Amino acid sequence: MNDYDINDYDSKIITVHGLDKDRKPVTHELQYISSQMRQSVIQGIKHSLKSLSVLKKNKHTVGSLRYKSDYASINLQQHRVTYRFYDINHIGIQGFTERIRIKGANQFWNIPGIEFANAKLLNLPDGYYLAITTYQNKGGEKRNYKSAIGIDMGIKTTITTSDGRKYKILIEESERIKKCQRLIARRKKGSNNAQARPFRGRYKVRKLLHRAYQKLSGRKKDKANKIVHELLEHKHIYMQDENLKGWHKGLFGRTVQHSVLGLVKAKLIRQERVTILSSSEPTTKYCPECGKLKKDIKLSDRVYQCSCGYSEDRDIHAARNMILLAKKHTCGTQENYAFGEDVQRSQKARVRRLKP
Ligand SMILES: [Zn+2]
Repeated sequence: MNDYDINDYDSKIITVHGLDKDRKPVTHELQYISSQMRQSVIQGIKHSLKSLSVLKKNKHTVGSLRYKSDYASINLQQHRVTYRFYDINHIGIQGFTERIRIKGANQFWNIPGIEFANAKLLNLPDGYYLAITTYQNKGGEKRNYKSAIGIDMGIKTTITTSDGRKYKILIEESERIKKCQRLIARRKKGSNNAQARPFRGRYKVRKLLHRAYQKLSGRKKDKANKIVHELLEHKHIYMQDENLKGWHKGLFGRTVQHSVLGLVKAKLIRQERVTILSSSEPTTKYCPECGKLKKDIKLSDRVYQCSCGYSEDRDIHAARNMILLAKKHTCGTQENYAFGEDVQRSQKARVRRLKP
């Protein structure tokens, strides 16, 4: 990568260097994408390089730069300029002379007052997608929130709420992924379909694997969305700031990798109604009946038992304490706090290109 300086590229570039499917260097000529799209690709690369260097400064391990054999997303910045709708089934993209058939535009078709912002052209393992950001007016819709809720995010396999609900957050890797991984291990680099009979060559199996992973991440997102939606029906949500990153490394690494805990947490943190307690709050140790702090709790103790006679499921106990401890610190001001209505909602809808 030393040979190329990103600052030398501008929107007038017509050739790019890359790798073909057997990872041999090739030079592509750009024919279709417009200068605005080129610019956004270059900007995207610069942006990624910047965040990489920030990571490096913060002592994260950053590997060396490598070639990619394909570029997976192009930002289309302006509706009506870089992309436009002809009708519910057809769009135009700058630089393409023909209309492109799409599926899925009915998600936002004919919604009054809808505004289109940027779109992203995505090359995903199972086809081409256009992810469109839209804004729509939600009006003065009044919402009836349920009362406060505390959430305990255990290391194990569940999220527990103060009202006793337990959500399973683990998603099993599919058999298909395991099978593809086994096949890839057996394939030689650059093997093609003919050589690898009766199975498929390495390149093809890799594609199948990527598709299976895309499905897995879709299932994870779906699960996280459903959990977050239910939790946000409550007016105040309390959770504790626990170190998710640390979990990836230790004993529980493999379990956390396929859990949706990180996704759920990331979604909740952005919400105004969510209060995050510092990790020093004794949510597990504190007894809500007598106020004592129980010191000798092991990770294996599933039930909290106090000398005053109070006992409760460990996770429900912790979740309830979050509400108690948070209210102690804010002296009830939380209840008087007025929440602004969400006027605009950003929604990402995806439309899929039909196979020709
Ligand atoms: Zn007690």
